[in-house]
Amino acid sequence: MDLQPLKQRAAARIDQASVALDGLALAIHGRPELGYEERFASAALEDYLAGQDLKVTRGAGGVETAFVAETRNGVGPTIAICAEYDALPGIGHGCGHNLIAASGIGAYLGVAAVAKDLKGTVRLIGTPAEEGGAGKVKLHAAGVFDGVDAAMMFHPADADVLDPLMVALRVLQLEFRGTAAHAAASPYAGVNALDALMLGWSAMSALRQLVRTDSRIHGIITDGGQASNIIPERAAAKIVVRAADPSYLGELRRRVLLCFEGAATATGCELRHEWGEAMDMVTTNQPMAGAFGENARVLGRELGPRRAGETSGSTDMGNISSLIPSIHPFLSVSAERVPWHSREFAAAASTPRALETMHIAAKALAFTAIDLLGRPELLKQTKAAFRPARSA
Ligand SMILES: [Zn+2]
Ligand SMILES: [Zn+2]
Repeated sequence: MDLQPLKQRAAARIDQASVALDGLALAIHGRPELGYEERFASAALEDYLAGQDLKVTRGAGGVETAFVAETRNGVGPTIAICAEYDALPGIGHGCGHNLIAASGIGAYLGVAAVAKDLKGTVRLIGTPAEEGGAGKVKLHAAGVFDGVDAAMMFHPADADVLDPLMVALRVLQLEFRGTAAHAAASPYAGVNALDALMLGWSAMSALRQLVRTDSRIHGIITDGGQASNIIPERAAAKIVVRAADPSYLGELRRRVLLCFEGAATATGCELRHEWGEAMDMVTTNQPMAGAFGENARVLGRELGPRRAGETSGSTDMGNISSLIPSIHPFLSVSAERVPWHSREFAAAASTPRALETMHIAAKALAFTAIDLLGRPELLKQTKAAFRPARSA
């Protein structure tokens, strides 16, 4: 089956929606919302789809700011396109999820426009709370990804990368408990929970020199005491441990915890800990990535391999990629190198170049979905290449 005419029609549909897609990307950029609070963004996207006579399920999977739109034609594979739209505290759209949202809408419009000429289903999933909320994990558990044969999205970046290294992570919540006392009158009656935390932090910092280059250990202190004239009876921190190799991640988790356990022993504090949120490494499905790369090349963008020695953070799309064949390619929104989660990246996520990249992403995703629906051998290769990954 010659898919070229279908791709041309999909691209024309995306071009036709160009002004609206830019409007959505910029409106969401201008009103950044934190994970699970993306009420403006989700409503804007849902309302737009509804206005295009596309059926939308709001609050998908029991998550208020999630949604699903689906177009089905007969029996065939199901392809999911993920749209993120959450922002970061303090720095807004420093990860450019406003562009992921608009590209997902555009890709869905494109495929939906040709769906009656293809057998199968395309499902647009509005996935909240990527930043620290593991929204996709929640939606997967609620069945929103049920029946999906392949899942895809794009992420804005400062380079075009087909198979980025996005590592696994685990979050560690720590709480030290000591004894409060007057810090000047009777400090000897206290047990200092903040000192315990600082001691453990120092040990953790020393450990950081000794870890592999594709690992990261970082965090924040979330409670450092209540008043400067009280020996702190409580101190708390949120630590993130990341590594590419699951067994090495396990080793790092053990060693990081030992840093704080040692500090608890040294200071006589009680330590409570809990391992929370887990993200898997992104496993790029190579046949899907090959198709996306070819489609992007036709659209004028040549995606390269990951940059040696660099990691690109983590994502809940990693968890999806452990369960379903997936891709999470990067497309550049900036001529210069701009770090994610910075004010500079937030500024780069609303430029004409960023919008142009969003349009290319929408088309490349639509074309890749059309390939997966219309080329049975590609779907077969995609499934053959898939190995469910072990979770962190
Ligand atoms: Zn981010
Ligand atoms: Zn992101």
